[in-house]
Amino acid sequence: KMQGMSNREEKIVVLIRLRPISEKENAANKSADWECINDTTILYRNTLREGSTFPSAYTFDRVFRGDCATRQVYEEGAREIALSVVNGINSTIFAYGQTSSGKTYTMIGITEYAVADIFEYINRHEERAFVLKFSAIEIYNEIVRDLLSTDNSPLRLRDDPERGPILEKLTEETLQDWGHLEGLLAFCEAQRQVGETNLNEKSSRSHQIIRLTIESSAREFLGKGNSATLSASVNFVDLAGSERASQVSSAGVRLKEGCHINRSLLTLSTVIRKLSKGRQGHINYRDSKLTRILQPCLGGNARTAIICTLSPARSHVEQTRNTLLFACCAK
Ligand code: ADP
Ligand code: MG
Repeated sequence: KMQGMSNREEKIVVLIRLRPISEKENAANKSADWECINDTTILYRNTLREGSTFPSAYTFDRVFRGDCATRQVYEEGAREIALSVVNGINSTIFAYGQTSSGKTYTMIGITEYAVADIFEYINRHEERAFVLKFSAIEIYNEIVRDLLSTDNSPLRLRDDPERGPILEKLTEETLQDWGHLEGLLAFCEAQRQVGETNLNEKSSRSHQIIRLTIESSAREFLGKGNSATLSASVNFVDLAGSERASQVSSAGVRLKEGCHINRSLLTLSTVIRKLSKGRQGHINYRDSKLTRILQPCLGGNARTAIICTLSPARSHVEQTRNTLLFACCAK
């Protein structure tokens, strides 16, 4: 039952997804020279023009070309990790990349495929009783908000000695079926837009976490007081645009936002780097809300995949390179 448990202190799975060139970029002749030469290597063809400080080939666990469908990314890169939740193992799947590189596109698709698979699993295992809970939050300027609630007030994060980090008053919806998911995702999307004049601006600056918690117990023991309950969560994390980690621009509010996002993304990259090296000792989860909330689903037995999304546009080469550097540190 606990397959995948062996050999597991190992690295975090790092995947690269290059999105296709958009029509606009194509029309403006902005296509760059990134090419996935096989399933694990992405190559930059313009090295000569760029100078020699920039490595031309990068190798990862898996690289997906622009014409790969999300289903393939899911099946070959995320399915096993997402489904470990039915065996009681926590997991987290991240989308990391600059704004417009395809994080949301990738994450929504993967969430939908994973939920479909989880329901299929539940239907095939009638000997167990399952409860599937859905929750969704947004972290913006280190403030956490419940995307299932119309109450816009911040959620308090508290450490419970037994249960770990708890978001007080977080709404948890029991997920009935796959169709129910669509309604919830639409609701969350609408909540994200509340009070926003420019959604793209906000979504590029905030992190979104969709969490599914699955509890199950053997039916034959139900109600007998001795039924062991398996419980685990899978997190689908649509991170703020990674350009925020490298660009602290103007003063005032923007600067504050920049710093916070900077802090969350920087903390995340240090945490990920330490975990991927299998390093013992102190890991600085507590330095940001994002890592505090995700802590039980990052270290220890938890499984992690990071999908780094890349834009092929020539005008984005600098950020694409930064994303690849992050990915190299994470693997
Ligand atoms: P991000 O969330 O990183 O800012 P989006 O997911 O919103 O980026 O993607 C930017 C645009 O590119 C959207 O219009 C989206 O539909 C499109 N897009 C992203 N990835 C793909 C892909 N793999 N195939 C086709 N279109 C994509
Ligand atoms: Mg997005």
